[in-house]
Amino acid sequence: MTVPPPFPNIAIPAASTKNVTAQVRLLCTTDLHAHLLPYDYFADQDDRPHGLARIATLIRTARAEAQNVFLFDNGDALQGTPIGDMTPQDGSDWHGPHPVISAMNHLRYDAATLGNHEFNFGIDWLCRAISEAKFPFTCANVRKGGCTLDRDGNPFLPPYFLLKQQVLDDSGERHLVTLGIIGLVPIQVNTWDRIHLQDRVQAHDMVESAQRIVPQVRAEGADIVILLAHTGIDTDPAYPMMENAALPLAALPGVDAIITGHCHGIFPQRHAVPPHHQHPLVSGVDHARGRLNGTPALMAGAFGSHLGVMDLNLRRDGDTWALTRVQSELRPTAPQGRAPVPADPTLMAQLAPAHQATLRLTQRPIGHATTRLHSYLALASPNKSVEVINALQQQCLAQAVAGTADGELPLVSAACAVKTGGLGGPGNYTNVPAGPLCLRHAADLYPFPNVLCGLRVTGADLRDWLERAAICFAQVTPGAQDAPLLNPHIPGHDFDVIHGLSYVIDLSQPARFDRAGRLVNPDARRISDLSHAGKPVRDNARFLLATNNYRASGGGPYRTMPDSAVVYTSPKTMRDLLISHLATTPLEPPENTDETWRFAPLPGTTVILETAPDVVNDPSALRAARATPLGQNSDGFIRLRISL
Ligand code: MN
Ligand code: MG
Repeated sequence: MTVPPPFPNIAIPAASTKNVTAQVRLLCTTDLHAHLLPYDYFADQDDRPHGLARIATLIRTARAEAQNVFLFDNGDALQGTPIGDMTPQDGSDWHGPHPVISAMNHLRYDAATLGNHEFNFGIDWLCRAISEAKFPFTCANVRKGGCTLDRDGNPFLPPYFLLKQQVLDDSGERHLVTLGIIGLVPIQVNTWDRIHLQDRVQAHDMVESAQRIVPQVRAEGADIVILLAHTGIDTDPAYPMMENAALPLAALPGVDAIITGHCHGIFPQRHAVPPHHQHPLVSGVDHARGRLNGTPALMAGAFGSHLGVMDLNLRRDGDTWALTRVQSELRPTAPQGRAPVPADPTLMAQLAPAHQATLRLTQRPIGHATTRLHSYLALASPNKSVEVINALQQQCLAQAVAGTADGELPLVSAACAVKTGGLGGPGNYTNVPAGPLCLRHAADLYPFPNVLCGLRVTGADLRDWLERAAICFAQVTPGAQDAPLLNPHIPGHDFDVIHGLSYVIDLSQPARFDRAGRLVNPDARRISDLSHAGKPVRDNARFLLATNNYRASGGGPYRTMPDSAVVYTSPKTMRDLLISHLATTPLEPPENTDETWRFAPLPGTTVILETAPDVVNDPSALRAARATPLGQNSDGFIRLRISL
């Protein structure tokens, strides 16, 4: 990693310490998820309204408007589209730096932190990718070695970075300002990417780590302390190992500003925003002033949807600088009612070779599908795009455990639709046509680099699993008309469907668990009529469950399964298993897809699901979901009325 050269200390004349003021502008991106060019590699279309190439144009403008501009990234930059996930992997003919890192070098980022998804491809892959960066990465709460080796542990990356920069004050004189940049990532990476982190590095509580480091950074001469915190805004009172800890972090003494992210929302919200972007209005969350617990804060959307701009007014205060005023705003790449910001041509040109390498990969033929597979209605009825994954998981696990005692257990499989609109917008759905398939379709069906896991579970475990899946729905009062179907604060990809079982989901019941997987309504049960092979599932019955490593280690609202429950972990990723399968067999959903689950009848009750407008081209799927199209909303989703 290249670190900018230290700036020579500049003596400041005593006379100039009076009323010296300066402006510093912080620009930030977060959760880019490898959205670089305005190109959709899954659909093979160049119509994406967001991405870093469009942000680059906003950066150019924002730099031209102000002096003393710094650019930061807040993590989840490297993973998320084929140009980030597949191009810089073995099996591709691309041998340059990671394309996201190249783009960030080109845009002259000043510092960045890691998001949870940076760990998805393993520590060695990550280190290789960021070794190409011409700017520092910092992360304060991930350390090398387990606690058994070293009580404190050694940092994995520099826990903080002092950015000493010459700035021009308001009368044109030069001064040195030191920004202390501290990176943080949710401790949950320990479970989400356990297969990669265990025995290598360990994440620690973000708030505890920041509490310890902030005074250290101050003591080492930071004038202004900025948290690059890959974490969102959870309005619950703070609790240990909090995943979305922006509020308690913002409350720490000594923190001047906090850059947030991770939950793909926007902060502050000064205009009407769709419900899935809204944070509940609670004390400590001040949209009008752009503050969290009084501290200036930003969250710049996701996938290159916004550039965060935070303007700091500083006044020289003895040996250091004090913040006198802060103003922040988000600049969208796709402003409502206007054409998207044009992509920056120099960045497009710089990325062209990596883009071509990505197209060579994603357009490679790999097989054939017998039917069209889409996820438009995956949250409303049993879904073929989910069931093909379940069938594949079941088949691969059955082969892996054949001949062992575990091979005798009844085998069921859990999978979810990964792309269900939500924050990703109306383009964020899996959509694979019938007919010839190429690699982009496999990536569309299975976007994450998860591996297959086999778990020994009981009937009670399966019931618990399904209760956790069912929290994605809103509670519906019987007789309600056009009530929302979904809880806007739970991502659709938390909804696992277990193939091989049959069950009913009762929306009139409250959710048993919250998003963090905590039991919040011990008396509530949404799942009923749970059966396997036509017989009720007993709590002590034993099963073998096919799932992925993310879920097995407690990803989403799920429970971390004990090591003793894990009977198999595949050496290949699910996507590679899918590609191997397609080489010999057409992709076909299992026959009994429709029998897996249904909503409990609530006569006279209707709910609304928002989905991709293209759903109207599949009338039989609409019929199966008892859904009637009502028309489009301003976000480009179509509203469907579903009779329960
Ligand atoms: Mn993210
Ligand atoms: Mg994240």
